[in-house]
Amino acid sequence: MNRTEMPTRRRLFRNWSGHVHAHPHTFVRPSSAGELSDVVQAAANAGQRLRTVGAGHSFTPVAAGDDVMVNLDHLSGIIAVDEANQRVRFHAGTRLRDIPALLAPFGLALANQGDVNPQALAGAISTSTHGTGIGFTGFAGTVTGLSLMGPDGTVRRLSAANDPEVFDLARVSLGVLGVMTEIELQCVPSFDLIAEEVVTDVNELLADLEPRMRAADHFEFYWFPHTATALTKTNTRVGLGEIGPGHLAEVGVRNRILNLLDKEVVENGALRLAVELGSAVPSLVPRINRIAQSAVSDRMYRAPGHDVFVTPRRVRFNEMEYAVPLASGAEVIREIRSTIESRGWTISFPIEVRSAAADDVPLSTAYGRETMYIAVHRFVKEDFAEYFRVVELICRRHGGRPHWGKIHSLGASELRELYPRFDDFCALRNQVDPQAMFGNRFTDSLFGLGS
Ligand SMILES: Cc1cc2nc3c(=O)[nH]c(=O)nc-3n(C[C@H](O)[C@H](O)[C@H](O)COP(=O)(O)OP(=O)(O)OC[C@H]3O[C@@H](n4cnc5c(N)ncnc54)[C@H](O)[C@@H]3O)c2cc1C
Repeated sequence: MNRTEMPTRRRLFRNWSGHVHAHPHTFVRPSSAGELSDVVQAAANAGQRLRTVGAGHSFTPVAAGDDVMVNLDHLSGIIAVDEANQRVRFHAGTRLRDIPALLAPFGLALANQGDVNPQALAGAISTSTHGTGIGFTGFAGTVTGLSLMGPDGTVRRLSAANDPEVFDLARVSLGVLGVMTEIELQCVPSFDLIAEEVVTDVNELLADLEPRMRAADHFEFYWFPHTATALTKTNTRVGLGEIGPGHLAEVGVRNRILNLLDKEVVENGALRLAVELGSAVPSLVPRINRIAQSAVSDRMYRAPGHDVFVTPRRVRFNEMEYAVPLASGAEVIREIRSTIESRGWTISFPIEVRSAAADDVPLSTAYGRETMYIAVHRFVKEDFAEYFRVVELICRRHGGRPHWGKIHSLGASELRELYPRFDDFCALRNQVDPQAMFGNRFTDSLFGLGS
């Protein structure tokens, strides 16, 4: 059977955490832009809705579809490299985990990354995925060009020079403006990171948080609820072959296998044991967290940037993350901390705190402001509803914007207040996709359809 024909068997889609399920009647992996165009046109002609899914790593139904789901895993790899400007054009289905090897022959790297890498490039960009570093934007801020397929199956090539208004709004668009087929990224010369992991008193850290974020290339921390300490991670960028500055000069490149082993044992093996035990006997959680935190020791190592940024996540969880103004971050964390204690909740997963530069991408969670990202998690076997609901109220009081790929409860009326160009985005959507074929019930609630 030709890949573009519509199979009739319903296939189960399940997201990474297992929280979201869908049974699209068609699931297609086209292997060319032509095949994709046939699928899009067939869906449009049949009055069906279409969702493009990357790695299914969003925690909400943002990528799920009941009619047609399309995955671009077969549209992967580099299309062109502009070596002079360090810009690289990728097929949109390229997985982040494949990018370091693809860029290596050109001596280039992604400017920054989040903490995992299975995502599709288009999937990561579409939800404003970010890493940490107050001098760095999320992925969408590094996009310099896009190709977007509309309901008629034709492709618009977008950039700051070519259709700039649509380009601007399309960079973070949750797949509701069409299917991204190609993405051009501003890359940087390959670099190493010198990683310093230090256990710190959490009160002292919060008192000094913003300066610490500003002083580092990449700073983040994990705080285990019910403990008084946090694990801080400070990463310093160093050119390949260059020695590190000051006290980092002596730090040598660490064996990749040792790094992976550490990450496996501490961040997966020990965590799994702790959350499984905590889920079976919640009253043990505070003690388990204190033991887990005391088992973590300070360390320093050097490795290629992408190896340091990324950690395999084998313990499944659900997550909510809010982007709050940088200056409000410490207060938000204090409020979450006192709420956990006053409510008597037992929370086994650490709270993760990161930062990013302001950017100019209209639906980016860091649009127009320096941002602190505060993420809360719950093990998949535990109910997250009450914890996330209350933390969300705290973050919202401080003007927080929810991550587009993580759990939240906001709809169009609240989102409009958070994004000055929200109505421009909705107007563009009505113009390019008047039937709203690139959507589902969840995205309708975000952008005010059907309400
Ligand atoms: C373990 C884990 C760790 C994570 N870590 C981070 C992190 O460090 N930082 C962070 O910011 N987020 C993080 N996330 C969230 C994740 O990066 C986002 O949810 C991201 O969107 C997932 O990418 P994906 O390829 O799985 O996309 P999906 O979840 O499959 O889709 C996301 C959105 O992209 C759209 N889309 C996908 N492909 C296309 C396309 N070709 N054209 C148009 N639209 C498209 C979909 O329709 C959907 O709206 C993490 C998630 C998990 C599960």
